[in-house]
Amino acid sequence: MIDVLVIGGGNAALCAALMAREAGASVLMLEAAPSEWRGGNSMHVRNLRCMHDSPQDVLLDSYPEEEFWLDLLKVTGGATDEQLARLVIRASSTCRDWMRKHGVHFQPSLAGTLHLSRTNAFFMGGGKALLNAYYRSAENLGVQVRYETPVDAIELDGGRFFAARVGDERIEARACVLACGGFESNREWMREAWGQNERGEWPADNFLIRGTRFNQGVLLKHMMDAGADIIGEPSQSHCVAIDARAPLYDGGIVTRVDCVSLGVMLNRDAQRFYDEGEDFWPKRYAIWGRLVAQQPGQIGYCIIDSKAVGRFMPPVFPGVRADTLPELARALGLDEAAFMKTLGDFNAACRPGTFDHTVLDDCMTAGLAPAKTHWARPIDTPPFYGYALRPGITFTYLGLKTNEHAAVHFNGVPSANLFVAGEMMAGNVLGKGYTAGVGMSIGTAFGRIAGSSAAGAALKEGAHATA
Ligand SMILES: Cc1cc2nc3c(=O)[nH]c(=O)nc-3n(C[C@H](O)[C@H](O)[C@H](O)COP(=O)(O)OP(=O)(O)OC[C@H]3O[C@@H](n4cnc5c(N)ncnc54)[C@H](O)[C@@H]3O)c2cc1C
Repeated sequence: MIDVLVIGGGNAALCAALMAREAGASVLMLEAAPSEWRGGNSMHVRNLRCMHDSPQDVLLDSYPEEEFWLDLLKVTGGATDEQLARLVIRASSTCRDWMRKHGVHFQPSLAGTLHLSRTNAFFMGGGKALLNAYYRSAENLGVQVRYETPVDAIELDGGRFFAARVGDERIEARACVLACGGFESNREWMREAWGQNERGEWPADNFLIRGTRFNQGVLLKHMMDAGADIIGEPSQSHCVAIDARAPLYDGGIVTRVDCVSLGVMLNRDAQRFYDEGEDFWPKRYAIWGRLVAQQPGQIGYCIIDSKAVGRFMPPVFPGVRADTLPELARALGLDEAAFMKTLGDFNAACRPGTFDHTVLDDCMTAGLAPAKTHWARPIDTPPFYGYALRPGITFTYLGLKTNEHAAVHFNGVPSANLFVAGEMMAGNVLGKGYTAGVGMSIGTAFGRIAGSSAAGAALKEGAHATA
């Protein structure tokens, strides 16, 4: 019998598989996707948020534990478990040597509007290269991998794992790690989670999924039905405003439009609806998907002028371009009079200041609701650009409750041999909100813990069986 069964094929699953194998366990990974689509959302990632007390290779200055913790506290509004969060934060300071050992390379962040060179280590070659390195290392170490193997259910008895079921097949193991992502790709479940709004719309029908189509939440639902303890709200997710022309799945990072803080954001009625300059973009980009989801038709329009060009990472699809504002309104299909009134009011409300996109500057509006509190400059320099944006779901936060050993819980009791990692438990640390790179911090920390715990449980049981 195999010692450790790992269900999933992304970052958390690979970290678990590698750790379990390093601890001496035999390991089998079951990945729902075919090999060319392996790796789930992890194929799209770029960076890892890391605590550090002094400059380190690709990381500038310092990012102490307390600052990381306060950032997390702020974005989650307290919806976090401090003990588990601090465990993730501390683990983020030491995991990179282990990652390098398995072939991951890092590079400094690129210049742009993401002020991340201090806090985030970027993967050279992105998530694809990270996954390829981990898969290569796993295979070299003797981890078995089966693709196109979606697990439908698992057999449990009193919180103890016995086997996974794939169709008619039954796969037994001494311990198991669940690392099969959220349920963001399951459009019906998303529809149910978001419900119908006061306008009679089903907002989730207009959502795009930024990552894999394989995170259908099958085992999350199965575990909920099996009585596992759950954490988080089904409607909470990492949700970014992305280019409305993006494909339904796997548009990835290039569909993000990063110029909101440099311009204004309008809804379908050409009205502004939130402070575009509230905070630095990496701390705010993940609220805009939800904000757009709350607007009529679940669509928003980001408007900039030529002063913004060159100050943000250009999106893959060019924006709609016009030489005058009325022309831009017409090209975007917005009511011209309403558009001109909103832009006119905004431009008139901008106070003189010293524009600096690298600090929370003093360029703000006065007497306008909602205010724009930083980087507010009149939109007056042609050519003008507009981007239609839709909510893009990155991953959902509903997950399995866990502890410092990554154990799945049933009625408050930790399972002896069933563990969880990654998006499937991220809600323990991230009840809502987001700060860039923390998904990988959580998945790496808990993937590694889950792998060690599972190996420990399996090897203990194996020793009993042979005693
Ligand atoms: C476009 C994009 C960019 C991102 N950028 C970053 C970033 O730069 N930094 C960061 O920290 N986070 C980022 N994230 C979030 C990040 O992807 C996740 O936090 C992290 O990759 C989650 O890893 P995971 O292993 O839990 O899930 P995933 O990587 O999604 O892996 C889940 C795996 O489970 C498999 N699976 C699902 N159901 C089953 C089943 N029933 N049976 C078998 N296998 C199954 C899937 O095929 C997949 O392989 C980004 C996400 C997206 C979509």
